[in-house]
Amino acid sequence: MSDKDMRLIWVVPQVNSCPFDGAGVFIFLLEEMVICLMVGGGVLVKLQNYLMRGMNIMENKNSKKRILTGDRPTGKLHIGHYLGSLQNRVALQEEYDTLIIIADVQALTTNFDKPEKLKENVMNVALDNLASGLNPEKATMFVQSMIPEIAELTVYYSMLVTVNSLRHNPTVKTEMKQYGYNDISYGFLGYPVSQAADVTFCRAHLIPVGDDQLPHLELARKIVRRFNELYKPVLVEPQPLLGSVPRLVGLDGNAKMGKSLNNCIYLSDGSETVKQKLFSALTDTNRTKISIPGDPEICTVYQYQRAFNQDEAENIGQMCRAAAIGCTACKGCLYEKMESILTPIRERRAYYEARTEIVYEMLHSGNQRTRRIAAETMQDIRKAMSIDYFYNKGLMKDNNMKVKSYIGI
Ligand code: SF4
Repeated sequence: MSDKDMRLIWVVPQVNSCPFDGAGVFIFLLEEMVICLMVGGGVLVKLQNYLMRGMNIMENKNSKKRILTGDRPTGKLHIGHYLGSLQNRVALQEEYDTLIIIADVQALTTNFDKPEKLKENVMNVALDNLASGLNPEKATMFVQSMIPEIAELTVYYSMLVTVNSLRHNPTVKTEMKQYGYNDISYGFLGYPVSQAADVTFCRAHLIPVGDDQLPHLELARKIVRRFNELYKPVLVEPQPLLGSVPRLVGLDGNAKMGKSLNNCIYLSDGSETVKQKLFSALTDTNRTKISIPGDPEICTVYQYQRAFNQDEAENIGQMCRAAAIGCTACKGCLYEKMESILTPIRERRAYYEARTEIVYEMLHSGNQRTRRIAAETMQDIRKAMSIDYFYNKGLMKDNNMKVKSYIGI
């Protein structure tokens, strides 16, 4: 391989990390020009890197506070996801620089034997986010495996975490039980470390989480503190942003709504399917006749009333206790309310489903922007750890070597 070929290999990944947002179009064109010149001359790599740095500075200067949130692509998203996270992130995108991670690498910790399903599920998760109202002009959606810097950061973080602390992580223990694992893979044990890299590589200020995810975020915060103290303070310690909506129970009354439990209403379910599922949902089983007063506190449907029909829930609860409303009427009222929320979601999903090229383009653009953010963090991380010898030419200088133009940032 010639020196010229080598130059291209070093440079192309950096170009791929260019975004098209804001001033990006103009600078991207400049960068393309730089590449053309490099093919002929190989002398302008420095200029390109200054431009990259300049873009990041420009963006950071105008930036809002950043949040990171996302989903594992293990299937279609359901109304529990919508209430617990999706509607919140749609609201937050107005105020924050919102990054949405589709955590496909994390999904592999429990689906490593069926990776072929990931592609379909990545698309489903992207569609469900867009359907819920996520605006690709305001929020950045990206795919975890397309950001190799996260994997690199995971390796560095893994030096700062003990195996014992992972073994005693309450969420890991709960999930081991949930999946029926007696023994676990290194990847499964270490996924809180990978998650710490997910939430810190972009220096997010806030992470919307459910209370079950707090132990993971606390580990991430500990790692950041350890890193900043041990090396240099280059990382942001993310704060939790707790959602106000409690976890939605399954249609069968199970504490968790989940695909594997077959007790979900999916955002992509049609109107008739939603009706059928809702009308077969568990109620107060003691209420065998309309004349028997019910107890809404033990009724699944009533929990949905509270979540989707807040204005009328209290009144419905009182009528249930007084045997003044039957379960069929109660479910009918809830169905109408849910349909008013789910219909526009369904319509948006159908729009994007018929135009998946827009979704791929959005993800591609999101990956590019995110790579640029990640590249800047990793430069600071490597520098803080003094492992940037090939990037700052220190190794060559130490050995009195002539530095070639294609090496280094
Ligand atoms: S009336 Fe409504 S809240 Fe009361 S038991 Fe029936 S479904 Fe549940």
